[in-house]
Amino acid sequence: FGVRFGDGKPSIDTDKLRGWKETVVKKLTGGLGAMAKQRKVAVITGVAQFADPHHVEISGPDGKKQVVRFDQCIIAAGSQAVKLPFLPNDPRIIDSTGGLELEGVPGRLLIIGGGIIGMEMAQVYASLGSRITVVELLPQLMTGADPDLVRPLARRVSKRYEAILLETKVVRAEAAKDGIHVWFEGKNAPSEPQMFDRVLVAVGRTPNGKRLAAEKAGVNVTDRGFIPVDEQQRTNVPHIFAIGDVVGQPMLAHKASHEGHVAAEAASGMKSYFDARVIPSVAYTDPEVAWVGVTEEEAKANGIKYGKGTFPWGASGRALSLGRDDGLTKLLFDEENHRIIGGGIVGTNAGDLISEVALAIEMGADAVDVGRTIHPHPTLSETVMFSAEVYEGTVTDLYVPKRK
Ligand code: NAD
Repeated sequence: FGVRFGDGKPSIDTDKLRGWKETVVKKLTGGLGAMAKQRKVAVITGVAQFADPHHVEISGPDGKKQVVRFDQCIIAAGSQAVKLPFLPNDPRIIDSTGGLELEGVPGRLLIIGGGIIGMEMAQVYASLGSRITVVELLPQLMTGADPDLVRPLARRVSKRYEAILLETKVVRAEAAKDGIHVWFEGKNAPSEPQMFDRVLVAVGRTPNGKRLAAEKAGVNVTDRGFIPVDEQQRTNVPHIFAIGDVVGQPMLAHKASHEGHVAAEAASGMKSYFDARVIPSVAYTDPEVAWVGVTEEEAKANGIKYGKGTFPWGASGRALSLGRDDGLTKLLFDEENHRIIGGGIVGTNAGDLISEVALAIEMGADAVDVGRTIHPHPTLSETVMFSAEVYEGTVTDLYVPKRK
């Protein structure tokens, strides 16, 4: 993978590591290309804009233009990273796309934005040896995620990163020969400007709806660039559909591909609808943070009568044997019928484990369904079963006073 153990001390060969990453990406994108061919899908490379409700004009990479007629169309134009206007134009100031290029390992890296992308990119570069500073406007990392789940991640990274500056923002930056000089303002702002070798901006993404000349097709686009759709992913023009980041939050690949299925099926005349109850979120950090359905904060804000079952991984044999008992599994239940309405997991492989909670919600499972499903021992997946048992008051792997 590009990690070398020469004279006992591990070192990182970024060229080799990038090569490995590119091989993986090529396999996936090449596979898509090959499957498109097998399915007789023509792929045209270029930038498309609508000409009218049945034509797009495509400018190819060679500058040549062509017009393509369509009976139906699915817009999947995605989003782009939000830019901070006061930052100078400098190759050392990058977004997540630039971060994934893996062009060397900066000594000191500033990440602007402590959302999912910021925390994931911080993880990557911390692992490669960069000294990391994260600056986040709000009082919590990854706002929207349950604070109970973010805490173990924050605890782990705050020991490893140089600084995590919450409730703070960048107000000015200057590109100099020796580095990027950055001025901060806010609760935890350093009094002096700081110098970084690279700055990665991850302050959100904005939809590409305004870049398509959609008005020529009569497709509505909001002021912010989103394209509104109905439950079949149809825009206001019934033969034009839209999916993914361009139709709204959450901007997640698995939401987009699900919507793609719905749109393609609806376009072919099937009665398909987007009727998924929940969309899971995962931050691929270490530990991973994953959640699905109602969060405790949302339940409180919306006056939902809920109960919860929480299982600390310190009581999981598998987590202990992995040396990673810093995790937590938490399930929320509807107090009236004990059905599971949400869940969150922080810990190793949380992103894989959350699918069971998503399935339980989709199937309308209750705490007994989950708690009485025999889970293999010793696994991390047991923590989902145990959390349901904690809620029911039947758990034996942890002492919890019985529910009245
Ligand atoms: P985000 O909105 O999740 O987080 C941006 C963060 O930056 C927020 O916490 C915000 O408070 C902060 N911020 C904004 N302006 C700031 C400023 N001037 N100074 C300091 N902090 C500032 O956006 P993101 O992390 O860039 O991600 C964009 C989208 O991509 C999200 O919808 C995310 O879910 C999606 N995404 C998800 C994954 C994943 O699920 N693993 C991976 C990549 C992208």
